[in-house]
Amino acid sequence: MGKIDLITLPFAPEALEPVISRETITLHHGKHLQTYVNNLNAAIPGTKFEDMTLEEIVRQAEGGVFNNAGQVLNHNLYFEALRAPRLENVPAGGLAETIAAQFGSFEAFRKEFTGKGASLFGSGWVWLSAADDGSLIITQEQNAQNPVTRGLKPLLTFDVWEHAYYADYRNRRLDYLEAIWQLVAWDVVEQRFAL
Ligand code: MN
Repeated sequence: MGKIDLITLPFAPEALEPVISRETITLHHGKHLQTYVNNLNAAIPGTKFEDMTLEEIVRQAEGGVFNNAGQVLNHNLYFEALRAPRLENVPAGGLAETIAAQFGSFEAFRKEFTGKGASLFGSGWVWLSAADDGSLIITQEQNAQNPVTRGLKPLLTFDVWEHAYYADYRNRRLDYLEAIWQLVAWDVVEQRFAL
């Protein structure tokens, strides 16, 4: 695929306020993600990764290439499923039914997901993914890890690296995790589940 591009955010940098500030989005997308993109583009020319999709690189690479490719894929999936805050914000359709069937209720699912994000030690990501049989699984992934390396289909993720929340919430990761549910673009997550 050649050069990996920095994604364009599907929202204005201030659109997620007051949950996530313009300052955080500007730094997170324009500095952190841009750096991972630049590092990856510097590392892949002339290697076997040059003609792979981002997901294929994440599945096959190790070391620095894996770390940068993983972080690009993780951030793309994170940012593309966020939108302006809504207080009543829940999934619909088949995804909502599967969540209710497997976790008992949306609230029970939300509590488990939030808890796994809060208890992840160090830097990483909390994920909702689908297995081949359509069942859902919540995982904690360290650093640049992504559920595609376990053969899962990633649906929803919250970034719990400190750079995702520190300017707005300082050390209060749990407050960030409780608030970010207002931002989930469930239509995007439902589309990923349906694919
Ligand atoms: Mn991040």
